[in-house]
Amino acid sequence: MGGLWVQLAVGQWETELVTNCLFCAIAAGEIPATIVAENDRVVVFADVNPQAPTHVLAIPRDHYTDFAELVDADPQLAVDVMAAATQAARQAGLDDGYRIVFNTGPNSGQTVPHVHAHVLGGRQLTWPPG
Ligand code: 5GP
Ligand code: ZN
Repeated sequence: MGGLWVQLAVGQWETELVTNCLFCAIAAGEIPATIVAENDRVVVFADVNPQAPTHVLAIPRDHYTDFAELVDADPQLAVDVMAAATQAARQAGLDDGYRIVFNTGPNSGQTVPHVHAHVLGGRQLTWPPG
């Protein structure tokens, strides 16, 4: 009986995590987004506030706060996210170049605490970034 109670408590906590994360909700289809590619592990969707003619975000379906946390927990999934970002750049025809960025932590300007790769292209990008 006690064991069952613990199991339920864990389930409730996990449910709350998903509900409270914007990108978990997008991955689950609970919040609409323009999906450009997806499989059982990753989702690629258009950024709602694009900073370049092509601006999409590649995320793992599983929740990790940032890229460092993802690499530690599941290195293969980190590669899957990078591969999906690269494939999205190819599909968008960004043959003249593009940028893949993982903002990580407060100093980077990261605002959504679910790891995401920005894929930016379709214009001349400046360097260094701001
Ligand atoms: P960050 O600043 O964390 O690196 O990037 C977060 C990105 O998520 C921003 O570029 C922002 O425009 C995008 N974003 C925030 N909320 C939403 C949303 O509800 N839908 C979509 N598609 N993108 C979002
Ligand atoms: Zn999440």
